[in-house]
Amino acid sequence: MRAAVLRGPGLLEIEDIAPPTPPPGGILLEVLACSICGTDARMVARGHSDLTYPRIPGHEVTGRIVEGEGGGVDVGDLVQVWPGIACGRCGPCLRGRDNQCREMEILGFSRDGGLSELLALPPEGLDRGLNRLPPGADPVIFTLAEPLACCINAQWMAGVSPGDCVLILGGGPLGVLHSILARRLGADLVLLAERDGRRIRQLAGRSNFRLIDSSVESLAGSVEEETDGEGVDVMIIAAPGIELDRSHLDMLSPGGRLCVFSGPGEVSLPLGPVHYRDLTVIGSHGCSSQQNRMAVEMIAKGGIDLEWLITFRSSIEGVCQAFLHARERHGLRAVIVGG
Ligand SMILES: [Zn+2]
Ligand SMILES: [Zn+2]
Repeated sequence: MRAAVLRGPGLLEIEDIAPPTPPPGGILLEVLACSICGTDARMVARGHSDLTYPRIPGHEVTGRIVEGEGGGVDVGDLVQVWPGIACGRCGPCLRGRDNQCREMEILGFSRDGGLSELLALPPEGLDRGLNRLPPGADPVIFTLAEPLACCINAQWMAGVSPGDCVLILGGGPLGVLHSILARRLGADLVLLAERDGRRIRQLAGRSNFRLIDSSVESLAGSVEEETDGEGVDVMIIAAPGIELDRSHLDMLSPGGRLCVFSGPGEVSLPLGPVHYRDLTVIGSHGCSSQQNRMAVEMIAKGGIDLEWLITFRSSIEGVCQAFLHARERHGLRAVIVGG
């Protein structure tokens, strides 16, 4: 079968390799779509200390079951896959936070992922990890369930509620998904700040949020103006490398929540304002299997326009262009389509 194999940092090649065999009780999936996110792009370009080679990347996967059953699915079913393989027994797993499982394995990272014609999954946790899609579902759109679920985790932790004003820093696909979700959760006002000219052009004309071009507009000034000086209730860091400082805390209203969604660099934030103004700083990483299922159900219900986020589609032969698309921000999302 054809697969994208990473043999070292920056060394991604399409290869013919032997098809995987699922372990007893596991399943074999024909991959129908696999979306590439910023984390994949960074990992492929620069490697990662926990990554062992060779590795097939890809963790945002939908497919059709071709062999095996279990987890409530049968051969022929369309499914979306939660990319975690969690133990189901440790403290975080038992508390419903299986994204923090102590023995977590992740598709495309510690196990081979979805940039391949076929994907084998072990029997562990299939009931939690496999989500059957409605008949006629577009497998490409449902690859966005996992990133949407990561947003659900963050906004659940940050307590996004009806009437809130939410500021999202970073206008990439995840920032956009955050804006869509915040509106769904009843936020009154969603501000999306971005400084990259290409991104600004990609987002222009969208009505879901008020776009702040922070390369020319003052972020603090725009927040002040848009909120009549009240500040925002929730601020979500949705891009890597944003240098957080005191000014970010000052943009929050009393009782406001700062959500560190994208991996931060080393920052030092004063705790004085956190204390005096009842602020909360929250982290969020990945999504639980339950949040992944919620995201699938949310997309299946309809009424969310996600089509425009997919700006590049290709068979696996175009995987290197797809990574370039993601890394160079030529568009929003690149998806490898199989089947
Ligand atoms: Zn991702
Ligand atoms: Zn566990």
